[in-house]
Amino acid sequence: MTDRYAVFGNPIGHSKSPRIHALFAAQTRQDMSYEAILADKDGFAAAVDAFRAIKHGTARGANVTVPFKEEAFRLAARRTPRAEAAGAVNTLSFEAGEILGDNTDGAGLLRDLKHNLGCDPAGRRILLLGAGGAARGVVLPLLLEGPADLLIANRTEETAARLALEFSRLPGCAVGIKPDGIGFGGLAGRSFDLVINATSAGLSGAVLPLPTSVFAPRGIAYEMVYGRETPFMTQARGAGARVADGLGMLVEQAAEAFFVWRGVRPETAPVLAALKGN
Ligand code: NDP
Repeated sequence: MTDRYAVFGNPIGHSKSPRIHALFAAQTRQDMSYEAILADKDGFAAAVDAFRAIKHGTARGANVTVPFKEEAFRLAARRTPRAEAAGAVNTLSFEAGEILGDNTDGAGLLRDLKHNLGCDPAGRRILLLGAGGAARGVVLPLLLEGPADLLIANRTEETAARLALEFSRLPGCAVGIKPDGIGFGGLAGRSFDLVINATSAGLSGAVLPLPTSVFAPRGIAYEMVYGRETPFMTQARGAGARVADGLGMLVEQAAEAFFVWRGVRPETAPVLAALKGN
């Protein structure tokens, strides 16, 4: 009986996850299938139920993407500590009739930064742009790396301030600094070794009102959006920063989910190379 997996989202046609997991499964010789499922905006739980009810094969788990990560959090009967901290779930495991929720986005970003890009966040001044689900998922993993500073800046200042306050109360923050949350206007004259864009501005080509000074010379600018040159990437490159897009994070968060489900960690480098090839 083949083990079955899926990714749920809306829209979902663009998803690279079926290809990534097919490559992981072939590489590690796992007998599994993985499909993309378009769920109605108000039909996420029903779509998951329907997927689990199919009789051929055994439904073992699922990934969850926009806009269902918060709903997946509520659907899970139990959640990992990193999913609790993120307040969002991108990985579901179906075990003995129960749904377990996890979040692999933070681990994916950290692995891409450290292993693929050679950027260790320890001791760095970090600027995190955005305060939505993606930003929320990476705050704790970044703090646990021991940065010199973590500043969260968002278009809506109060959301950034709320997010920073929430994480400054967590016990994990005892290991390092407390994050601050501000609006973009507060960035003038400040400089960072690592700037992570976790806003969705790049999807619409919107320009973030960032002073060029935020990009320290020889710093890293990380854009979570992938598959296109965003205004953020262009600005960072112009300021002399090393620029990376979110394709590596996408592959690494998928590898972490694969490990959660199968207990095997796939090699990500050949998969990343295959995706970059076309
Ligand atoms: P959310 O909708 O939860 O949050 C969107 C964030 O972007 C908010 O902080 C919002 O600010 C900000 N924003 C949106 N438009 C603009 C704009 N024009 N100018 C300034 N700020 C803007 O989205 P997510 O957090 O879930 O996702 C964010 C991005 O990260 C997406 O593009 C997604 O594709 C990407 N992502 C990539 C992953 C990967 O593996 N590479 C994994 C997860 C996400 P405000 O609060 O003011 O509305």
